[in-house]
Amino acid sequence: MRLKTKLSLTFALVVLLTVALTSILSNLVINSEFKKYITKQQEQKTQELVSSIIAQYNGAAISWDVNFIHAIGMNALYDGYIVRVLDAQNQVLWDAEKCDMTTCMQVMNDVAERMKTKYPRIGGEFTSREFLLVQDSVTIGKAIISYYGPYFLSENDFHFLDTLNKVLFVIGISALILSVAVGLFMSKRISDPICKAVGVARRMAGGDYTARISSQDDTKELADLTDSVNLLAQSLRRQESLRKQLTADVAHELRTPITSAQTHLEAMIDGLWEPSTERLESCHEELTRIGSLVKDLENLAKVDNDKLALDKKPLDLSSVLHKVISSFEMDIQNKALAVTFTGAAPAAPADEGRICQAVANLLSNAIKYTPQGGQINITLSHTEKYAMLTVEDDGIGIPEHELPFIFERFYRADKSRNRKTGGSGVGLAIVKAIVEAHEGNVEAESKLGCGSCFRVMLPL
Ligand code: ADP
Repeated sequence: MRLKTKLSLTFALVVLLTVALTSILSNLVINSEFKKYITKQQEQKTQELVSSIIAQYNGAAISWDVNFIHAIGMNALYDGYIVRVLDAQNQVLWDAEKCDMTTCMQVMNDVAERMKTKYPRIGGEFTSREFLLVQDSVTIGKAIISYYGPYFLSENDFHFLDTLNKVLFVIGISALILSVAVGLFMSKRISDPICKAVGVARRMAGGDYTARISSQDDTKELADLTDSVNLLAQSLRRQESLRKQLTADVAHELRTPITSAQTHLEAMIDGLWEPSTERLESCHEELTRIGSLVKDLENLAKVDNDKLALDKKPLDLSSVLHKVISSFEMDIQNKALAVTFTGAAPAAPADEGRICQAVANLLSNAIKYTPQGGQINITLSHTEKYAMLTVEDDGIGIPEHELPFIFERFYRADKSRNRKTGGSGVGLAIVKAIVEAHEGNVEAESKLGCGSCFRVMLPL
C-alpha cells in the first residue's frame, strides 16, 4: 500500500472514530438531559394546571367558573393532559373524556403511538394522578390529571431532537470530509519529498549522478532526508569523476614512457639508430619510471587493503624522523638544503613501516619542490590527544586553487613542473591513506612561491 494512501486512511479512521464517539456520547448526554428537562416540565405543567383550576373557584359564592375550567381543560388536552375536576362533594365538574371523547382518544393514541415507536424501551403508559384542590386551607375538590408516563415528548420536542441529530450528523460528515481532505494534503506533503528521494536514488542506481532534489521541506526529518540524498548524489558524482580521472591518468602516465621507449627500441631494431649506451640508458630510464609508477600504485593498493591490518605499537616519532632524514642525506647534500628537526612528542600507537613511508613521502616532496640551498624545518609537538608532525619548506609552493586536490590520486599541481621532477601524483594520496588508517588527519598550507607546510596529526 502506498504511504499516501496509508496516511490518508489512518487520518480518516482516527477522525471517523472521534466523530462517532463524540456523536454517541453527545447523543446520550443530550437524551438523558432532555428526559430530565421534560420530566421537570411535566411536573411544572401539572402544578400550573392545578393552580389555574383552583383560581376558578369563588370562595365567597362557593361556586366554580366551569367555562374557564373547560378552556383550561381543552388547552391541556391538546398538550396531552386529560383533566377531570371534581368538587368537594366528589361531583364531576368537568371531564375531558365526557366533553370531547373523540379528541381525547385521538390525543391519547397520538402520544402513545409516538412514544411507543420512538421510545419503546421506557414501557410507558397513561397514568393518572390525583391532586387535592385547596384554597385558603379549605379543600374545595380534586383534579385527576392523566398523561403518558414516566414522561412523554410533544411533536415539537421530537422535532427539536430530530433537528439536533441532523445538525450533529451534518457536523460529523463535514468533519469527515474535511479530515480526508486535510489528510490527503498532509500525506501528499510528507510523501512527495520521499517519492522525490526515491526517484533520485533510482536515477543514481541507473548511473545518473546529476539528479538532485530541488525543493526544500520545512519538516526537519524530510529536509535531512533530501539533504542526505543530495549529498550522496554529489559524493557519488565526485567519486565517479575521480574514477574516470584515475583511469585516464594511469593510461596517460604509462603511455608517455612506453611510447618513448618503444620508438627508441624500434629505431634501434630497424637499424636507424646505433644501440649506444646513452640510448639504451634512456630506454632504461623510461622503464624505471614505469616501474616506479607501478610500485606507487601497488603501495597505494596495499595501504587501501591493509587499512585494518596495521601493526600498531608505541612508536617513538623522533627516531622515525631521524631515520627518514638520514635516508635522504644524499639528496639533501646534492641540493645543499638546510634541514632542521626540533621538538618532541610522546610515543603514539602506530605502524612503524607505514609511518616511515608517509614521512618519507612528505620529506621527499619537500626536497623535490625546494630549490637549491632552500630550508626545510621538521617539528614534532603534541596536544593532549594528538602527536603533531610538521614538514615545512620554503620551496615553490602550491597554487591556492590546487591545494584542496593535492591529496587525490594522480593529482599533480602545475602539471608542467612535475614532468621534470618525475612525480606521479600518488605520494600524498599514500600519506593520506596511511594517516587516515591510523585515525589521524593530514592537512596542507601553502603559498605559491613562498613554501608549503604539511601537518600530520596522529592520535596518542
Ligand atoms: P608527486 O609525485 O607529483 O610529488 P604527490 O602526491 O606527492 O605527487 O604531490 C601532489 C602534488 O602536490 C605535487 O605534484 C606537487 O605539485 C604538490 N606538492 C606536494 N608537496 C609539495 C611541496 N612540499 N611543495 C610544493 N608542492 C608540493
